[in-house]
Amino acid sequence: MRVLICGGGVIGAACAYFLAERGIEAMVIERTGIANAASGKSGGFLALDWCDGSAAEPLARRSFALHAELADRIDDDWGYRRIDTIGVVASARRDVGFYRKLPAPGWLAEGAAVHARLGTAETTAQVAPAAFTGALMRAAIARGARLMMGTVTGVARDADGAVRGVMVDGQEVAGDAVVIAMGPWSVMASRWLPLPAVYGLKGHSLVFRYAPAPAPCALFVELETEAGTLASPEVFPRPDGTTYVCGLSSKAPLPVDPAAVAPDDDGSARLRAMTAQFAPDLGGADVLSAQACYRPVVEDGLPLIGAVPGVAGAYVATGHSVWGMLNGPATGEAIAALIADGESRAVDLSPFDPARLPALDAGEVQVVT
Ligand SMILES: Cc1cc2nc3c(=O)[nH]c(=O)nc-3n(C[C@H](O)[C@H](O)[C@H](O)COP(=O)(O)OP(=O)(O)OC[C@H]3O[C@@H](n4cnc5c(N)ncnc54)[C@H](O)[C@@H]3O)c2cc1C
Repeated sequence: MRVLICGGGVIGAACAYFLAERGIEAMVIERTGIANAASGKSGGFLALDWCDGSAAEPLARRSFALHAELADRIDDDWGYRRIDTIGVVASARRDVGFYRKLPAPGWLAEGAAVHARLGTAETTAQVAPAAFTGALMRAAIARGARLMMGTVTGVARDADGAVRGVMVDGQEVAGDAVVIAMGPWSVMASRWLPLPAVYGLKGHSLVFRYAPAPAPCALFVELETEAGTLASPEVFPRPDGTTYVCGLSSKAPLPVDPAAVAPDDDGSARLRAMTAQFAPDLGGADVLSAQACYRPVVEDGLPLIGAVPGVAGAYVATGHSVWGMLNGPATGEAIAALIADGESRAVDLSPFDPARLPALDAGEVQVVT
């Protein structure tokens, strides 16, 4: 059996890894480069229990455990580590000392208040997202998977409607099953398969050359800016001596070509200025990367993971929104089980069934070229 996986983000790479582990032939078809999109530009923050109470709880808990297992199992380094996480309130306009419950790290602005410990080394962790996705893909290839560079332009189907391959740059590539894992670009697949709408939400991020001392911890900041607006930047110091900051969203539409994704004109400068308001030394440090990416979201906020209704051999795995890095491993494991065994025992996929939402009319798919 040969499974064609459309998209080489963390979800596609995880599907390839878990299929290859089972000895199933998997081929990832990627348009631009492994982890070139959100899977290379996200925060890489992982949490055991932040999805608790939602339908994604079992997926997230399984995936948090799989991250630790993968770090043991795969001989590679993607900066996986457990990390404390704190909640910070800061304001450029008023005293927020009222919120102070714990001492603040010395590298934060005077007056920044730590209001809560949000996670400990038992419950929160991090990865460097591009390194993780790349390592998963390499591990998949070491187990027999393949990578093809090219743009998926359609799904080829038999007279009875079953999948028989995909079109790559107009040429048919044969396969017994296809997994749509193109992140926000999965909306393009609504032209080929009955799939619900997938949207792309843009976010900016900066990678600073900055290693906060003494102990690193992840920060979720509630900031009142100098302009009097509210922002929620997230800060993740990494083991390689860099610190990642995200938190500025944008309404810019998704370009068709993933390589065309770029920060808004003023996006990076605004995020840097915002950072300097709660962490002056960090905000003044060298910027190694100023970037933007789109997270894939679905109408009800839950991912789409499962068989495409009415099309034998077609599967989808997308819509992971802010938790794609966290939930990538359990998604890959579940898709591999679904394809190989007909069901996923580790995680019940019924809340993520694509059939729960109406399929988008192919004529509605509009993208900016
Ligand atoms: C600013 C920001 C911060 C985030 N922080 C976190 C975090 O801390 N923790 C967390 O768990 N999640 C986080 N996320 C979410 C996470 O990054 C995403 O959910 C995840 O990366 C989505 O992975 P994906 O594989 O579905 O999609 P993508 O990473 O978008 O990959 C899709 C791939 O499909 C390819 N593609 C597109 N069209 C085609 C085509 N026609 N043919 C072939 N290939 C194609 C693209 O080139 C791309 O490589 C964050 C997201 C953003 C935007």
